[in-house]
Amino acid sequence: MIRKTALVILSLVLMMGSFTPIQIQSKSDTVVKLIPSVTTSFPDSIYFKLDIETDILITDIRLHYIVERESFSDVTQEITVGVPMSFQYEMSVYWTWDMRTTGSLPSGTVVRYWWTATDIDNNLYRTEPLSVNFDDNDYDWQYLNQNNVTIYWYYGDDNFAADLMQTSQEALLRLEEDTGAYLESPVRIYIYSSSYALREAIVFAKEWTGGVAYPSYGVIAIGITRSNIEWGRRALSHEIAHLVTHQMTSNPYNSIPVWLNEGISMYAEGELEKDYENYLKAAVINGSLISVRSLCSPFSAYSDKSYLSYAESYSIVAFLIEKYGQQKIHQLLTVFKTGSTYDNALLEVYGFDLAGLNRQWQNYITGIYIS
Ligand SMILES: [Zn+2]
Repeated sequence: MIRKTALVILSLVLMMGSFTPIQIQSKSDTVVKLIPSVTTSFPDSIYFKLDIETDILITDIRLHYIVERESFSDVTQEITVGVPMSFQYEMSVYWTWDMRTTGSLPSGTVVRYWWTATDIDNNLYRTEPLSVNFDDNDYDWQYLNQNNVTIYWYYGDDNFAADLMQTSQEALLRLEEDTGAYLESPVRIYIYSSSYALREAIVFAKEWTGGVAYPSYGVIAIGITRSNIEWGRRALSHEIAHLVTHQMTSNPYNSIPVWLNEGISMYAEGELEKDYENYLKAAVINGSLISVRSLCSPFSAYSDKSYLSYAESYSIVAFLIEKYGQQKIHQLLTVFKTGSTYDNALLEVYGFDLAGLNRQWQNYITGIYIS
């Protein structure tokens, strides 16, 4: 484990922006100089600026950027910015990426970008490829690294961070042993000192947001204080499992059933909490279980139904592991990675479809609570 503070210094340097003057001389002896700079304001915006010195009329200026993240199509965004209609030796153009219109990027995201300009004779000028780190620089982040996990924290002492690292490693071990799922690529976890501090770091955070996962960026941000460390350990295990599941199953064709995704995360937390178990038990006794097929879609926002959906998801995953073992559920994740439909994936691995799983699992859970 290594602890460092150099990261912040590095980030600050990057935040100051990159200045790479690009001077291009075209055949006709015209000179066009493009001087890019960038300023970040986490979590709200990135301000891209281009200063231009030219002796020919520029007719078109574009900013191109790519966000570094796991993606099945590497999409380059292209922004056309306004250019003065008359000739000017010097001018500046800019474009602000307002995250309030596009949603948050997690801290540490790298955005690659370059500018192009076209003159009236149709000569194209282009800056070098540049990059900017979109970091949350409000805090003096330290970090701890183990295996594929890096925990960034600024609050509490070394023991607090070590405790959370141990929690993460235990959750990953539990997942690997029981489901064969593991982290294929590195993840970053940002620990904020409270839910409030976390919400300040997210654009449009909901009042109840305590943790947020960005699976395709391999990032989790979560608010944990000493007084809610028990909750924090569970939430951390839950969210890190979402990153594992995403890495194991993501594909361009199909998502996995919500019960499987949430069930694996609930399972990674450890034993089902009493509150959830009470909902499950009551639903078994009242005959009001939600079907496995219904749990393939996003859960109800109503608190009672939501609790029951999470509890059932845990129980379905626990049932599959207990009855059919680690290899089968690992195989299920592998089949889902190919973009299989829900029924076909289950049929291929277990020999039954969603309706069959629903029957078997309901018998199992009824056997536990009604004997
Ligand atoms: Zn979840």
